[in-house]
Amino acid sequence: MVKETAYYDILGVRPDASADDLKKAYRKLALKYHPDKNPNEGEKFKQISQAYEVLSDAEKRSIYDEGGEGAIKKGGGGGGGGFTSPMDLFDMFFGGGFGGGRRRERRGKDLVHQLSVTLEELYMGATRKLALQKSVICDKCEGRGGKKGSIDKCGPCRGTGVETKIQQVGPGIVQHFEHMCRSCHGQGELIAAKDRCKTCSGKKTVRERKILEVHVEKGMRDGQKIVFNGEGDQEPDLQPGDIVIVLDEKEHPLFRRSRENLVITMQLQLVEALCGFQKVIKTLDERDLVITSLPGEVIKHEALKCVLGEGMPQYKNPFEKGQLIIQFMVLFPDTIPAESLPALERCLPGRPQVTIPIDAEECTLSELEPDHGRGQRSAHDEDEEFYFHQGPRVQQCATS
Ligand SMILES: [Zn+2]
Ligand SMILES: [Zn+2]
Repeated sequence: MVKETAYYDILGVRPDASADDLKKAYRKLALKYHPDKNPNEGEKFKQISQAYEVLSDAEKRSIYDEGGEGAIKKGGGGGGGGFTSPMDLFDMFFGGGFGGGRRRERRGKDLVHQLSVTLEELYMGATRKLALQKSVICDKCEGRGGKKGSIDKCGPCRGTGVETKIQQVGPGIVQHFEHMCRSCHGQGELIAAKDRCKTCSGKKTVRERKILEVHVEKGMRDGQKIVFNGEGDQEPDLQPGDIVIVLDEKEHPLFRRSRENLVITMQLQLVEALCGFQKVIKTLDERDLVITSLPGEVIKHEALKCVLGEGMPQYKNPFEKGQLIIQFMVLFPDTIPAESLPALERCLPGRPQVTIPIDAEECTLSELEPDHGRGQRSAHDEDEEFYFHQGPRVQQCATS
């Protein structure tokens, strides 16, 4: 049991979430609340970042699970309780800032976008058009911001864009303060209002709508990145960054994906499980597959079978496909007419002999309390495990 769930709640996952679940949750939320997209949600962006930073680190996660946020802030897990800046964490996660300053130095920032794709699109491949806004160098003034020759170096900051102030803070102690130059707003240059470019109002860049064609290839995965080199925001004197598209696989109503395999749940009536069946599965590319059981074979509840070569195509090798895994759910009838029982019993393996001691106590089998799981139980339901594993106790019929 974890002490607090706040970090899990922020990411919208359960405390037993896997590393992959956490990654996916962070990816979605960080993109949604990134200041580029949601300038008013800075606090939320920070919370998401801190929660992920702790939970994605096995050591910090266990400290948090045991002692809550207090234990983390006290400096558990090294790092003195400090957090990475949300932007740095974001860059690290999405690969933008990776490779140190060398690559980023004279480069604009990368634009990261999420693209929702269906399992069908990942199976068959697809071309998606994505409209987005980006900054481009103003055509009219060629990125100067004004008429040629009208640009003056800013006086107060001598063209650096930064003003330095020296202040005496004590006897013989001076301190240097640096802040953005107010005259030129950090630009380092001044353009007289009348000479300013009308198209970009002196900002040197304009916002432009851009349509990107994104080629989703067969077998791509959730979270996979498609990079458009140099398509990011343009800024004067900077190499434009990249546009990074991150795929987000939508849930499918029938198929679940497990790496190269597809998993489907198939319900069987008891008669089908015992006496054989034929079923049709519609594939992601709309073909019909017929599944036939072997004569005389009994399919047990939760049995797994597979069809080779009907899973997901491999990325870059799409003729190779994984397996289609079928998990059977056998539906038992609620009752059987009493008069059919003798005929039915003759078809089934014989029952074991039971010796009942003379002083045995007679008792009644009751249904479990409602909150102990009645009706349909899933394969992962804990109550069901209890029911089966503790089976022998039901015979003891202990009433507490
Ligand atoms: Zn200035
Ligand atoms: Zn302009």
